[in-house]
Parts: sequence; structure tokens; C-alpha cells
Amino acid sequence: MPEAYQWPTSARAVVIGAGIVGNSLAYHLARLGWSDLVLLDKGPLPNPGGSTGHASNFIFPVDHSKEMTQLTLESVRQYRDAGVFTQSGGIEVARTEERMQELQRRMASAKAWGIDDVSLLTPAQVKELVPFIEESVILGGFYTPSVGIVDSLRFGTIARERAQEQGALSVFANTEVLGIDVENRRVKRIRTSRGDIETETVVVCCGVWSPKIARMAGASIPLTPAVHQMIDVGPVPHFRDTKGVIEFPIVRDMDTNMYERQDGSGLEIGSYAHRPILHDPEEIPSNEEAALSPTELPFTEKDFQQQMEDALELIPDVLNDESVGIKYAINGLLSLTADGLPLLGETPEVKGLWSAAAVWVKEGPGVGKSVAEWMGHGESEIDLQSSDIARFYEHQKSRTHVRSRAAEGFNKTYGIVHPAEQWESNRNVRLSPFHARERELGAVFFEAAGWERPHWYESNAKLLDEFGDRVARREAEWDARWWSPIINAEHLAMRERAAIFDLSAFCIFDVTGPGALDAVQRVSMRQMAVADGKVVYTPVLSASGTFKSDLTVMKLGDERFRVVTGGAHGMADLKWYADHLPDDGSAQITDLTSAWTTLGLWGPRARDILGSLTADDVSHEAFPFASCRTIELDSLRVLASRISYVGELGWELYVPIEQGSRLWDLVWETGEPHGLVPAGIGVYGTTGRLEKCYRAFGFELDADYDVVEAGMAWGRVKTPGFVGKNAHVTHRDQDPVAVLCALTVDDHSSRDGTKRYMLGREPVLSKRGGPLVDAHGRRSYVTSAGAGPSIGKHILMSYLPPENANVGEELLVEYLGEQYPVTVATNDSTPVFDPENTRVRS
Ligand SMILES: Cc1cc2nc3c(=O)[nH]c(=O)nc-3n(C[C@H](O)[C@H](O)[C@H](O)COP(=O)(O)OP(=O)(O)OC[C@H]3O[C@@H](n4cnc5c(N)ncnc54)[C@H](O)[C@@H]3O)c2cc1C
Repeated sequence: MPEAYQWPTSARAVVIGAGIVGNSLAYHLARLGWSDLVLLDKGPLPNPGGSTGHASNFIFPVDHSKEMTQLTLESVRQYRDAGVFTQSGGIEVARTEERMQELQRRMASAKAWGIDDVSLLTPAQVKELVPFIEESVILGGFYTPSVGIVDSLRFGTIARERAQEQGALSVFANTEVLGIDVENRRVKRIRTSRGDIETETVVVCCGVWSPKIARMAGASIPLTPAVHQMIDVGPVPHFRDTKGVIEFPIVRDMDTNMYERQDGSGLEIGSYAHRPILHDPEEIPSNEEAALSPTELPFTEKDFQQQMEDALELIPDVLNDESVGIKYAINGLLSLTADGLPLLGETPEVKGLWSAAAVWVKEGPGVGKSVAEWMGHGESEIDLQSSDIARFYEHQKSRTHVRSRAAEGFNKTYGIVHPAEQWESNRNVRLSPFHARERELGAVFFEAAGWERPHWYESNAKLLDEFGDRVARREAEWDARWWSPIINAEHLAMRERAAIFDLSAFCIFDVTGPGALDAVQRVSMRQMAVADGKVVYTPVLSASGTFKSDLTVMKLGDERFRVVTGGAHGMADLKWYADHLPDDGSAQITDLTSAWTTLGLWGPRARDILGSLTADDVSHEAFPFASCRTIELDSLRVLASRISYVGELGWELYVPIEQGSRLWDLVWETGEPHGLVPAGIGVYGTTGRLEKCYRAFGFELDADYDVVEAGMAWGRVKTPGFVGKNAHVTHRDQDPVAVLCALTVDDHSSRDGTKRYMLGREPVLSKRGGPLVDAHGRRSYVTSAGAGPSIGKHILMSYLPPENANVGEELLVEYLGEQYPVTVATNDSTPVFDPENTRVRS
């Protein structure tokens, strides 16, 4: 390889950090045709002293997240191709019954994401594969033969060399980035210990240092360096005759938050069980100061004491042997984020400043490929929506938030995390103007985008008597965790009378100016050239015609469109819209999320309630579905929008945030005689939505499926161009490869007679129990699950291969190790409740 490059004064892109991520990314940019690339690291090569240099380097592919599994599988493919992957197998062992159930869940996730070669083992079977384990301590294990270890440093070298051989990349070790100059919110140049480089594109692949680098540009990469303790013991007599670096499966002792993995004649023992030990990037020693390397901090023995005892219990044969000593022990540093997910994509603060941080070795090459695709084509083959760095609201970037969530999440690294589990730390940051009223009504708050949102109201417990047997209870604790039958009762009260909903978590922004129509037209699939006062629900597509988002747009005037989108993805949507504004400055975006609040009012009595509060005409003729206008409610001027995500007559009512509590009181006092109830997001987001088969972004709608497959290609394609149009037109000309269907569960009885209720993400199987795979290799799984109280059935949504997408087709769904019969109820966008949509149009 060329030893000495000439220092470049300019570059097409500069990648900072030569760990697994930076090396992978530089290679993939080169592979995609980028040239004039520069890769810098402050440390020496091939091991510059980052986390990659001391990773245990093992990879377990199964994860409950589809996105993380896809990134891992892609990484394994690349590691295998590069010849640096050694398959060892891996076993996640259970010490508790609860963990055994979790292992069943992992079996289901494996099947849902297409990893078939997995099985549950008895303790004796575990012992056969891992002879040094004490099998009396465990109840069983989850075996994944495709687990393996990699040489991540070697992979990095191979990746760099490939890009260098192409003539696309110059590499500079021992070169520290000291500053990033930004002009007009765009990257202009970087300053390094060797000199400056003019560039418009910088990718921060700096692992635990990333926040510090982002700050140089006035941006934020919200992660915290955190300690993960690891020791290496040996030489282990058991391993004396083994030839390779690893011959025994890696053991993850899930209930103690630890792992044990053979490393030649030694055994590495790692722990996520100790107290969270968080650092700041500024505290990390330099390469010169560090005793070992900057990310191998001195071992704090006290934090490992309990873990040593736990390890002794599981592998006494190895650890009780007096000849086995501790060879190496570190407080290794890795990156933790507030929600446990990576930080990928262009930062919302600075154009041209990209982040590829909080990534593990197991995802590195997959992330490198995906971020390079995103940089090159505007989107990646693997959907990165959960990892998008644009997802955070301001408070979520704060040091306090990141550290409190990271500390809370650390001991859950191998935890049993319920799909609806709520965070405990740093709550009550965003409170809606209805909050005090909601508290009085016994709201049980879940968090969304930092907002406290009622999920159900304890004061509605009385509705359980009213609706009696129509409210399905859940017998199994897991199914009923983070859930209440009150949700179903609130739902029925809404369908029979009316309910109000706190929708303050909506993200709201206005697109204004002479170029506003062009701006919204360009990113919306549906026609935006509509009359003032129209409300349009539209998919937002990527260039490949799959989902970037779905949201509603209100046309408020000639040069004003109000975009309303879900809180969770709102900030990423805001960035997408901002990125597509016309270059001539003829349109602007104003974020109004914290200026306006929203109260939902829906149900057959909604018009009676609203009508008695206003002199304005709210009849169907005067105020039709999908329209909005300002009406007066007492002294409030309220923007009312007649749409519904729960399939009922009613309105979203928008007022300036300081007038929210007045609005609540008006609607509440007027509504009570009509039997109005407060209802939570359990109804809004699940039961009400699912009965109407409304799709949700991040569940049914993602980059893996297109509009036709999602059953949303109704109407004509508009004439003006929009992002994704060509692909969308092509999709409409083709037969869909999968069809989004609603299924209902026919029998909930498990083997022991307990009735079980799926929660989502379970594999959908043929009647004979085999996986359903479409022509693109995608597995059928439950995208959303929830009760349909009005139809008395549990509803599941799933994409099915066309040959299975027949109404009445009988299939199976696997839930916690058992299979339950389900039937396809609808195979287009027809709802399972009120199929003619008479209610919303009444
Ligand atoms: C003990 C331990 C065991 C682990 N085991 C595993 C495992 O088994 N499997 C797994 O998947 N993951 C594992 N991990 C996690 C994994 O090591 C990291 O997530 C991963 O290596 C991060 O890679 P990276 O490229 O993002 O960062 P790094 O490897 O840290 O690379 C970042 C680079 O940025 C450079 N840099 C920083 N600042 C500057 C600057 N100003 N100028 C120039 N260069 C700069 C640094 O020198 C560094 O080389 C483990 C972590 C620890 C601590």
C-alpha cells in the first residue's frame, strides 16, 4: 500500500475514525464510485486505540429489531466474504422460567427475520456442546449455530486497502481532527494536526469521541462513552488441545448479564451487570497518556466481584482451577445512546456532516454500506429509520437525558424488555396543557417523543362493568404487562358515545411562502394543489417508492400548508421536508410543535358536543370529511380538522398551547352529559386504528414495502412530479409481491388452557407451520397486533405472499413457542370494522 500520501488540500469526503465503522464506510463509498476520499485517525494503524481494537468481536445475529438484525446479517455476509469470520455457534442460556419464555420469543424473532437454524436446548444438550458448563444452574438454552467471531481489525485493513487499490482513498494515521468549519450551516473544511482540508462532506465515525467531534461543528451526536468490563482468564486446561481460536460455542449467561467466550487458550468474560460507569469524551485519555489504549481504562475490580461469583457458578470447572489466572482485565469503553440504537445519517444541524456512531462490531460493515448508500443515493437498501440521527428533539440531545437513559438501559443489555416497556428516568419533560386534568382522571402515562401521553385512564375502570363481557381480559401476565382492559372499555365508549384524546405529541410545522405548494408537492405522493381548507393524508416516499413517512397536510391558504405528523418520527420528517425546500428560498418551514396543541374528539356524539359549543355550522354538509377551518368555541378560535385515525365522526381541535386547558374544560364539561370519556393512546394508536386497518409508520409502513403492497395506491397518480414517482408508477404496473392483510385470531387457547394475545412482530406461518416467504425473500410477520373490541376479535396485520392473501385463508401465528390459528379477514384497505366507512363520513 502507498506509504506516504500527499496531504490533500481538498477532498470529496473526509471520513474521521478508522475503527470498524470508518473503514467499512470508506470502502463502501469507494465501491459506490466516490473518489478523492480521505480517511483520518488520530491513532496509529491498524489499531488506532478505539473500541474496535479490544472488542470481543462476537456476533449473535438474532435481535427483536428487524433493522438491527438486517444490519447484522449484512455485516456477517461481508465478514464471511472477507474471510475473517469464524463460526463457533452461540448459546443464550436461561437460569429462570421468565428467561425461558424470552428464549421462545427469540425463536420467534429468528423465524420472523429469516434465521431458521436456531433451536432450544435442554441443559444436557447445552452441556454436550459446552462441556465446561455447570448444567444444573440452567434451565435451557437458545442455540444459534451461525454465531461467530470476526477479526474486525483485519477487516478494517482489507476494507481500507480495497478502497486504496481503487485509487479512491488516501489514509492518514496519527492525524487528529481539531476543528470543523461550518459556513451557512454547511461543512466547509476540517482542521487537523496535519493541516486543513476543504470539503463539503465529513463523516464522523469516531465511536465514543463522536459527540466531541460533532460539537466542533455546532452539531450533536448524542451518545455517552460507557464502561463494559471484560477480563481474559487462562490458560484454560480445557482448551489445551483446541486448535483454532474458538472451538466451543460462545455462552451468553443472559440472567446475569454476562458472556463467556473462548479465545484460544483463554476465556473472555464480559459483563453488563455492573453499575453504569459513564464518562465524557473529553475525559478519555490521549493515545500517549493511555496505559493500554484510550478505550481500555483501568479495571475497577470491585465492580466485577459479583460477576466473578456468577461466572464461577456457571463455569466452575474453568474458574476453580488454580492454574487459571486473570491475564487481562479492562474497563472497556463503548457508546451508549438514549434509546439503545445507533446514530446514523446527516445531522439535522449541519449539512454535509454525517454520523455513523454508536455502532457495534456486529453491525459495522452493514452500517458502512447503508450509510454510504444513503450518502450516495439518498436512501439505503436496509431501512435505517430507527437509527436516523434526525429523530431527536432538543431535550433528547442533552447530556442529562442521554446519561440517564444510558444508565437505565445499560443493565438491560441482555434484559427481557417488553415491547411496550417504558423508560423510568428523565420523565415529565414535555407536559401537555391537559396534563393536570389527565392526572386528576388517573391517566397512566406512556412517553412519546418526550411527551407524557395518557395510555388509558384509571377513572374509566367503571366502564369495565358497563361493557362486561365485551371487554376481553388477558390472563397471562406478559400479555397484560403495560396494558389494561380499560383500553378496550374506553374504545367501546368511544364507538358508542364519544371520547377525547390528548394528541399534543403531534409534530406540527408550516411550509409557507410563494414556493410552498411546490415544496409540499415535491415530497407528497398525493395532490397538494387543493382548495383552501382541504386536509390531505399522504404517503411520503423515498426515491425507490417505499415509505419515508405518512402524514396529513392542511391547506390553510395560498402560501401556507400545515404538516401534522407523528411525534416519534416528527423530527426526521421535518428534516426531510427542509431538505426538499426549493433552492431559491421561496419557501420556509416553521416548527410549531411547541406552539399548538391538539385535542381529538371522536365518536357518534362528537357533532352534538361540538355543535353545542359553537355557533358555527358543523353539519356534514357544511363541514365535510377531510376539511378544516377555524371555528369559535366560546372565546377560543380553534382550527378544527375533520379527519380520524380511529374511524369515527369527529375532529382534531388545534389551539395555541396556552389555551389548551381551556379547550379541554369546554369540551369536557359539554361532553359529559353526552357520555364523553377521556381515552388514551391505547385506543388511538392500537384498537381504534386496527379495527379500521389504518397503517402506521414504523409498523406496516417502512422502506421494505411499497405503496401498492401496502394497499394504499388508490386514486390516480398526480401529474406534478414528486420524490418516488417513477418507482411508484412502476410498482402500480406490476403485480405486488406481497399484500398487506388484516387477520383475526380464531383461537387463543394455549396448551395449558391460558388464552394468549400476540403483541406484534410474531412470525405468520402456513397452515402446516412453515414460514411464508414472498418472491423478494421477505418473511411474513405481524406488523401490528391489538384488540378489536367492537368486533370481539384480536387483530393482526401482516404482509402475505399473494397466494396466501385470500380472505378466509387459514394460517398460523407463532407466539411464545405455540402456534395459533388465524384467518385472513381483509386483503386490501377495507377495514374489519365499518367496512363502508360510514362513521367517518356521517
Ligand atoms: C470490552 C468490549 C468488548 C466488546 N465486544 C464486542 C463484541 O463482541 N461484539 C460487538 O459487536 N461489539 C463489541 N464491542 C463494541 C465495539 O467494540 C464497538 O461498538 C465498535 O468497535 C465501535 O467501532 P467504531 O468504529 O464506531 O469506533 P472505534 O473503534 O472507537 O473507532 C473510532 C476511531 O475514531 C478515532 N478518532 C476519535 N477522535 C478523533 C479525532 N479527533 N481525530 C481523528 N480520529 C479520531 C479514534 O482514534 C478511533 O480509532 C465491545 C466493546 C467493548 C468495550
